[in-house]
Amino acid sequence: MSVVVWLRHDLRLHDNPALYAASMAGTAVVPAFVWAPEDEGPWAPGPAARWWLQQSLRSLSADLERIGSKLVLRRGPAARVLPTLAHEVQAEAVYWNRRYEPASVATERAVEHKLRKMGVRLEAHDGALLLEPGFGLRGDGTPYRVFTHFYRAALQEHPAVGTPHLAPSRLQPPDRWPASEPLESLGIARVAPGLLSSTWQPGERSALRRLEEFVTDGLARYGAERDYPGRNTVSRLSPHLHFGEISPRIVWQTAASVQGSEPFLRQLMWREFAYHLLRRYPETPQEPLLEEYRRFPWCSDTSFLSVWQEGTTGFPIVDAGMRELAATGWMHNRVRLIVASFLTKDLLIHWLSGARHFWERLVDADLANNTLGWQWTAGCGADAAPYFRIFNPTIQGMRFDPDGSYVRAWVPELKGLPVPWIHQPWLAAPAVLEAANVHLGKTYPEPIVDHHQAREAALAAYDQMRRRGSRTPLP
Ligand code: FAD
Repeated sequence: MSVVVWLRHDLRLHDNPALYAASMAGTAVVPAFVWAPEDEGPWAPGPAARWWLQQSLRSLSADLERIGSKLVLRRGPAARVLPTLAHEVQAEAVYWNRRYEPASVATERAVEHKLRKMGVRLEAHDGALLLEPGFGLRGDGTPYRVFTHFYRAALQEHPAVGTPHLAPSRLQPPDRWPASEPLESLGIARVAPGLLSSTWQPGERSALRRLEEFVTDGLARYGAERDYPGRNTVSRLSPHLHFGEISPRIVWQTAASVQGSEPFLRQLMWREFAYHLLRRYPETPQEPLLEEYRRFPWCSDTSFLSVWQEGTTGFPIVDAGMRELAATGWMHNRVRLIVASFLTKDLLIHWLSGARHFWERLVDADLANNTLGWQWTAGCGADAAPYFRIFNPTIQGMRFDPDGSYVRAWVPELKGLPVPWIHQPWLAAPAVLEAANVHLGKTYPEPIVDHHQAREAALAAYDQMRRRGSRTPLP
């Protein structure tokens, strides 16, 4: 007899409730991963996330081997493969940690249904969040939709309590290991897009090291500097958290032990809020939470979409962000806000087109966080920025990249421009441009829109939505 542990977005040994419980079951443990992009519905992982996943699985396999075990790899769908595996290893139980994306919930139900019919016991654990299902309802039974209220209530719940589960020091192997596909043959990822492999090191050890480095070096400055993309202040833990290479409880408890960590803990709680919203409003990855935005007159001409994607809009901070994303699979939060505002408000392109592009490019592409981030910026989500608050990309650049170091790093053709012009090269005198070797329209584009006119157009579109209720063409 044995038990199977179905691993998904919990690719770690430390503080992994399902793995820990299985290790205590007193029987052989078969850790398994099922590669099943079809189980993810319309949001199968994009190339950057697939690259991360492949590296992370390699790392987890090695970690499991160190404790006398192994990671069994199979090709999905999970509802077919897990019952077969359970039968092969005569499993008495299958353990897993819950996921909350709508398609994952449906997959869990299908797996559960089949296993129950076979008489296999199920144990679903909670390991992905600080506050588990059931939390987040107001006194009248409706969900929190304002972050500060959610946050206040969350703190009263004492999130992240309890001692994290230790990583098992040994897992009892089965008498005979079931067949496993070689990682490379699953076809998860073949190439590392851009600079991914020189930027990141996926895996649990690297996640724990990143947390330690951040707590030593960035956390104390986080509150004051977290909005400056040119400074190395944020944790960059997002892909590790997304794939569950580190538990949010370990992150929270480690950070909370340091004085002045409140601004960081607050950001971690945004992740909880995002999952809380996704669980209560599972349609939001496709539909705006605020119904009236179904009638928003998005621009049907999306020819500027590729210009935005390539980072050639002529707005340096927007272009820097889009190029950082393309090269590294990640973008600083402040810049995510700026580029998303530019797409949805200056170009009036549907937020879903932006969310889709991020989904393909981000190593931390996360359905809950991405949906919240896009809907918040577009004005159509919970606790969203009011529509009329439209970021001016030039002012944002000057405020949050005051010395231009972020732009210089990602838009090297502007490197020679002095500080006053780095975020507005179109205002520089010809001699300044000449000295910096910048030729607008040739080496770097002219701005594709006039921000002030774009702002007026966005406000007019908002008015139109509110007054006339016009239909929304979806991308
Ligand atoms: P830190 O500032 O160090 O924060 C620590 C952790 O807290 C993050 O790793 C993340 O898990 C969580 N967190 C921080 N800010 C937020 C936030 N605003 N919303 C939700 N969780 C947060 N985050 C993703 O993980 N995946 C996405 O696909 C994603 N898409 C986004 C799209 C848009 C348009 C916007 C505006 C934001 C998006 N975010 C997304 C949220 C945020 O930008 C990233 O979590 C953050 O930049 C990751 O960097 P970090 O780990 O250094 O964050």
